[in-house]
Amino acid sequence: MSAPPPNIDVRALERLRQTFGHPAFRGSQAEIVRHVAEGGDALVLMPTGGGKSLCYQLPALLRDGLTIVVSPLIALMQDQVAALQQIGVRAGALHSGLGGREASQTRRAALGGALDLLYVAPERLLSDGFLDMMAGARIALFAIDEAHCVAQWGHDFRPEYLQLSVLAERFPEVPRIALTATADPQTRAEIIERLGLDRARVFVSSFDRPNIRYMIEDRGDGRAQLLDFIRGSHEGESGIVYCLSRRKVEETAEWLAERGLLALPYHAGLDASIRARHQQRFQEEDGVIIVATIAFGMGIDKPDVRFVAHLDLPKSVEGYYQETGRAGRDGGPADAWMVYGMADVVQQRRLIDESEADEAWKRIAAAKLNALLGIAEIAGCRRVPLLAYFGEASAPCGRCDNCLTPPQTWDATEAARMALSAVYRTGQRFGVIHLIEVLRGRTGERMSRWRHDQLSVFGIGALHDEATWRAVFRQLVALGLVEVDHEAHGALKLTEMARPVLRGEQTLLLRRPRVTVRAASRRKAARGANAGSAGREPVGRASAASGTPDARLLDLLKAWRLEQSRTQRVPPYIVLNDATLQALAIEQPESLAALAQVHGIGERRLETYGEALLRLIAEFQRDNR
Ligand code: ADP
Ligand code: ZN
Repeated sequence: MSAPPPNIDVRALERLRQTFGHPAFRGSQAEIVRHVAEGGDALVLMPTGGGKSLCYQLPALLRDGLTIVVSPLIALMQDQVAALQQIGVRAGALHSGLGGREASQTRRAALGGALDLLYVAPERLLSDGFLDMMAGARIALFAIDEAHCVAQWGHDFRPEYLQLSVLAERFPEVPRIALTATADPQTRAEIIERLGLDRARVFVSSFDRPNIRYMIEDRGDGRAQLLDFIRGSHEGESGIVYCLSRRKVEETAEWLAERGLLALPYHAGLDASIRARHQQRFQEEDGVIIVATIAFGMGIDKPDVRFVAHLDLPKSVEGYYQETGRAGRDGGPADAWMVYGMADVVQQRRLIDESEADEAWKRIAAAKLNALLGIAEIAGCRRVPLLAYFGEASAPCGRCDNCLTPPQTWDATEAARMALSAVYRTGQRFGVIHLIEVLRGRTGERMSRWRHDQLSVFGIGALHDEATWRAVFRQLVALGLVEVDHEAHGALKLTEMARPVLRGEQTLLLRRPRVTVRAASRRKAARGANAGSAGREPVGRASAASGTPDARLLDLLKAWRLEQSRTQRVPPYIVLNDATLQALAIEQPESLAALAQVHGIGERRLETYGEALLRLIAEFQRDNR
């Protein structure tokens, strides 16, 4: 009798290592792969960058027949197919961007058993011709990517997705896996109902992104702070800078470019060809910074974005989390950085107040903004309230700015009373700049014209500097003790909540303004000059190789990768990702066997790039002996 076939877990792990070059499964991947490979239905909820693709790509290789992947965006499809072909997996795509000949070639390949995975846009999948074609083929699995597109409640509804329920009816024996990074309970329920997935096992992963470091600074000169942050921690790396307005996008991009950074603007008002060119350069070149409105992002799948910076406050925690989530998809260390100040709060509140929407909407919008302000103003860990917002309990992370350098808090009850009194005594008709001048006792034409130098509050706050007062007023607004009157040009007014503080019935603990870390000290940390430096040490999954990569070797490897990417016409990260380059520069393998052990190097890459990489490393070592 012959030996029984190896069990599914063993085969899955073997494939993971040989084909994908990953040493181990991440999180619940192993369980999902087994369940689906054995023919079960699944709904997978995993954050962006969590590793969803593998959950259907690996079962596709373990099951007989063709796996059909439904995907809503051509760019994502092309990216995935290129990445699969790179590791020797037989994959193709059918979408409206193809010519007739190409499309029929791909279709023939799929029917003839020459493909393991076929990516299809939903509208094409649902055409009669295609459904009939599938009836004649052996289908191993349906994977429905970005499954939240079926939910009307969600932010990204696509009507074509609704008809995907036909798959369960026409192919009841074929297993289905639906995947999304949208976690909220309503969307989840809608996906299950509309796709007929009631029998599917639901896999929910944590939405934590452990490799992202969250940082929020008090706004001084925002642009200069941004430059400081980029030069300090991310010289030559890819990043996205978000601004609220088109004008600010253009000004900021230009300003950064004048200072020698490779920064390109992107917003909906730019010519389509310019937008496409900038997006392509961002995607394909190393170290491009895109300065953009939130028009930029959907469908951007670049894994090695090392930072996302916000020069303006987003509208909600969802927005903030989605935008910052574009950093570090490859699992390597990444930063989510933001500056924010009083003006941001005023601006966002005004956008809500002046919108045409009804009162119910305004209340929700205000609550969403407040949740974000709470995270911006918090003195403790920022990750705890972030995850709590998505229904997940967690302990302080030890890696956000507040955990790394706890902000000082102080008993600001007295200062708050002075500030509130100043608002009251000046008739609730003045903005924050004037109020601070009153408190600090600044004399001048404006003071005497309004006789504010005669008031009891004039000069009573001289012991605190201007930055402290700005922080006090900002937090009073964020906490809702003071509101901004937009009809009266940003005049501050007291709310009901100010009363207990004014009456001395409530004490107030506020955060001292955070002083910007000087660039020089951070730069050292970023370059890995001192290996143990906080925050930049790789955390999470990219931390396989420990030690410090040789910067010169890393440069050589990057240059080699760029050359490969140009000749093959694929983005650099499709050739090899950053984590793999880092590992190569640390481990410096000298044989094919050693090279095969490096994360991200599977059989196919070993075959195509092995010799070249070994030669490059050997030459580097000889030259540096
Ligand atoms: P998602 O679709 O969930 O956003 P991807 O499937 O694109 O995430 O995976 C994100 C990154 O994680 C990719 O670079 C992928 O190669 C990597 N990855 C996935 N699974 C593993 C694993 N088990 N070990 C190491 N890296 C992995
Ligand atoms: Zn923290």
